[in-house]
Amino acid sequence: MIQTTAVVVGAGHAGLAMSRRLTERSIDHVVLERGEVANSWRTQRWPSLRLLTPNWQTRLPGHDYDGDHPDGFMPVAGVVATITRYARLVNAPVCTATTVHTVRATSRGFQIRANDDLLRARAVVLATGACNLPAIPAAAGAVPASITTLSPLAYRGPGQLPDGGVLVIGASATGIQLAAEIHRSGRPVTLAAGEHVRLPRTYRGRDIFWWLQATGLLAERYDQIDDLTRARHLPSPQLTGTRQATMTDLNALAAQGVRIVGRLGRVIDGVAQFSGSLANICALADLKMNRFLNRADEWATASGLDEDLPPPHRFAGTRVDPRSPLELDLTRGEISTVLWATGFRPDHSWLDIPVLDRTGHIRHDGGVVTGAPGLYLLGMPVLRTRASTYIHGADADSEAVADHLRSCLSSRRR
Ligand SMILES: Cc1cc2nc3c(=O)[nH]c(=O)nc-3n(C[C@H](O)[C@H](O)[C@H](O)COP(=O)(O)OP(=O)(O)OC[C@H]3O[C@@H](n4cnc5c(N)ncnc54)[C@H](O)[C@@H]3O)c2cc1C
Repeated sequence: MIQTTAVVVGAGHAGLAMSRRLTERSIDHVVLERGEVANSWRTQRWPSLRLLTPNWQTRLPGHDYDGDHPDGFMPVAGVVATITRYARLVNAPVCTATTVHTVRATSRGFQIRANDDLLRARAVVLATGACNLPAIPAAAGAVPASITTLSPLAYRGPGQLPDGGVLVIGASATGIQLAAEIHRSGRPVTLAAGEHVRLPRTYRGRDIFWWLQATGLLAERYDQIDDLTRARHLPSPQLTGTRQATMTDLNALAAQGVRIVGRLGRVIDGVAQFSGSLANICALADLKMNRFLNRADEWATASGLDEDLPPPHRFAGTRVDPRSPLELDLTRGEISTVLWATGFRPDHSWLDIPVLDRTGHIRHDGGVVTGAPGLYLLGMPVLRTRASTYIHGADADSEAVADHLRSCLSSRRR
């Protein structure tokens, strides 16, 4: 039996940030990682992906972006290199190729089974990521067997798809990026759009993430958000990591030739049925975008920046084709692939402690797991602030969680 004070599960950026915080507090620990450092970025992302957050924002405890392109967007290889360098920088005690199979609560802390070893620890930090599995709707079960189906976790490029039309389900960051890429490969693409978040890449000459940060939106705390459950499940914004276009939204995709349809409801007898509420959903996304731009303008005026920035303006509303079909017969041969860009979910199935709610998510208060003293969570959307959804959010989150962990250890000692 190996004994340590704390075990961190997962060597993505969140687990490594936590390792740095524990080291700062002289808390001995190990980081257990089933693959290599930055494993999710090495094995579960498509090669053309670029972060939609600008480089200047990719910072971690004790590390700021120091490259030559602060306003650029990191490719996957850059993210892997950054996280790998960070692991070395903070001298994280990572055990790679070490899969955690169970974590159990004991009278004195936790027992962890990793590979064939047993470890004992007084605290455990779960940093295994929010995007381990694709969130695929039940309708997938009725898609005809002749259709190739895949999720973004398995997607590597259009070349892996059979010839023919592609139906992309979901119009958030992943869906719009993959729809555009597949369309460029010459395949006809239909994109089923449900609720989405529309934002411009730049506004009044500044990146949208500059505005999200400057207006204080990213700093909004989890305990001050009216509908926290909704905030934690908000789709990612329709953004792409490129400066080539201000908008990579439904208007841009439609102009390129992508056919936009409503949210996928059911598949019955091989026929995909789409919601008729596409126009409403788009109007709502436009409204919310404009509300944020109003907030940005008000903030700029209050901060005395109006003279330094180009004047406020608004973007054209989303155009919805009234002839957009409500049904698509998947047995006719027009569609050969369905791509589920319907989001991701964490996998904590190996946790042998009753801390999951009925939707399978861990109950926690800002990363402090409810009903399991000494158990912590990192790397989840809106864990402690809206910034928690992004890499740089781990900076403040790991600090707060490490402070709580340290006081939990001292109170147990007392
Ligand atoms: C498609 C996509 C695009 C994104 N784009 C951006 C972006 O532009 N900007 C941004 O800031 N964020 C982005 N994110 C979000 C964010 O960066 C990820 O959620 C991030 O990877 C989470 O970091 P993490 O360290 O919590 O988890 P991960 O990076 O997923 O790391 C978790 C680690 O835990 C390991 N692990 C899992 N289970 C076990 C186990 N049982 N035993 C041992 N090890 C285990 C995994 O192998 C992995 O290495 C994106 C996410 C996705 C999916």
